[in-house]
Amino acid sequence: MPHVVTQACCGDASCVYACPVNCIHPTPDEPDFGTAEMLYIDPDTCVDCGACVTACPVGAISPGHRIPETQKRFASVNADHYRDPSPDAVRFPVSALWRKPLAPIEKPRSLHGTPDPLRVAIVGSGPSAMYAADELLKHRQVHITMYERLTEPFGLARFGVAPDHPATRSVVNLFNTIAQNPRLRILLNVEIGRDITLDELREQNHAVLWAGGAPTDRPLEITGVDLPGVQSATSVVGWYNGHPDFVTAGPRLDTERAVIIGNGNVALDVARILTADTNRLAVTEISLDALAALRDSQLREVVVVARRGPEHAAFTLPELIGLADGPARVWVDPADLEHVDDDAVHDIETAEKIVLLREIAAGPKPEEPYLRLAFGLTPERVLGTDRAEGVRFRRTTTDSEFADLDAGLVFTAIGYRGRPVPGLPFDDARGTVANVAGRVVADQHPVPGLYVTGWIKRGPNGFIGTNKTDSTETVAKLLADAEAGLLSPAPVGV
Ligand SMILES: Cc1cc2nc3c(=O)[nH]c(=O)nc-3n(C[C@H](O)[C@H](O)[C@H](O)COP(=O)(O)OP(=O)(O)OC[C@H]3O[C@@H](n4cnc5c(N)ncnc54)[C@H](O)[C@@H]3O)c2cc1C
Ligand code: SF4
Ligand code: SF4
Repeated sequence: MPHVVTQACCGDASCVYACPVNCIHPTPDEPDFGTAEMLYIDPDTCVDCGACVTACPVGAISPGHRIPETQKRFASVNADHYRDPSPDAVRFPVSALWRKPLAPIEKPRSLHGTPDPLRVAIVGSGPSAMYAADELLKHRQVHITMYERLTEPFGLARFGVAPDHPATRSVVNLFNTIAQNPRLRILLNVEIGRDITLDELREQNHAVLWAGGAPTDRPLEITGVDLPGVQSATSVVGWYNGHPDFVTAGPRLDTERAVIIGNGNVALDVARILTADTNRLAVTEISLDALAALRDSQLREVVVVARRGPEHAAFTLPELIGLADGPARVWVDPADLEHVDDDAVHDIETAEKIVLLREIAAGPKPEEPYLRLAFGLTPERVLGTDRAEGVRFRRTTTDSEFADLDAGLVFTAIGYRGRPVPGLPFDDARGTVANVAGRVVADQHPVPGLYVTGWIKRGPNGFIGTNKTDSTETVAKLLADAEAGLLSPAPVGV
């Protein structure tokens, strides 16, 4: 039976290059790679060699005969991606380029005419920083000092990914391997801008690569969001993952209902953890304080609310499958699916999400505490005087009726946004450091020796593995500039 990509896929495309028959798509050189929710194996072409299993850093690929029970649905999800042309397939077209042979993999280049050693500082130690380091270290001359403001490395791979997703979190094993390279030095508990200035860093290095992430939530601008009991989903994620900035951010769980506004994967993570069986959480890396609080929780229902219908759901199909087929207790009110606009569905992932939501809605209401996926509700205001007591919604389709949901806790999960970095030009519209393909630009000109990668370069989207392609692009620019003699002058002391 052919191999199958499952839920933990973080899109780094390592399997694509390992596969001898080019049957894993989309590849980084195909147009839908940037928007794909995971990669898919073509069951008709796969020769079951197993090379992709070895290449995958998060154990996301299973041989067909050994797919875990909770992941079985992924066999058809992989196969459906390659459905033969039919009236339906015209409606859900797969990449027209998927049969295109892969471009040859670029071999590590030898650097000519560059300083030796070539000193590079990387700010941050999240996925984008680690993938950039890995790419740079392929060149013998490069010596890297990486600066991380926290006392533990690897950014959101450690402090963002949910503790009940151990396969995804295992990507830190790859980062630990990269960190063993003797030409990479990681300095923890050092914040650039507080302990060392960016100017000092530029003086000491030929190039500085900023990989500081996109650390703020997009604010929800409705009346009442400042009331106690309203907080960002990010702060809850930080709290249950033991992030030092959020140790005191634990929500008061002495209420029966919580509402999460926004329905991306982060909203699902928070709802799943808040309603999980605590005995299951106890064997994860969840913070012990959070575990103790969750054991005493009074929550009976966590409602994940989306403004639009399921045809526009922000969560991904793999995460929904994980919810539906895993240990989570999940419920969808059939009434919420009555207005689905099937004509607005143009891709197979969305079509499959709707099938699955209908399947959940047709099932029984689960035991409490459970998480509910609700649709078509636009938040108008948080209700309450001294603290949050509920949320008033407008029904998005009819644009008139109000629906009030009682809730003692309200979490906002409508996305992230990069903060301006002192000393770097900021593109306010995109919430990123101003750059062209990773070269920092000011007044439309590249700033010599300054580069950017990850969420603060492209905005807060994509998966852990997306940062690999992103960082490869930035590093290519940095190395090209090194060879062209465009980097900063010889650093102090070199
Ligand atoms: C809650 C959450 C859950 C997620 N779950 C998943 C998942 O399950 N699967 C998946 O594929 N993707 C997931 N993602 C997405 C993934 O985490 C991101 O794509 C990835 O972490 C972005 O990498 P980055 O390096 O740009 O930023 P980050 O991971 O944020 O790393 C930035 C690092 O820079 C450090 N830093 C910032 N400023 C400074 C400074 N001035 N000096 C020194 N250090 C600094 C920060 O402390 C941090 O360690 C999740 C994201 C979030 C927010
Ligand atoms: S098992 Fe081999 S042929 Fe099949 S997808 Fe993996 S690498 Fe490709
Ligand atoms: S995580 Fe990477 S290697 Fe594993 S299946 Fe996804 S794209 Fe392939």
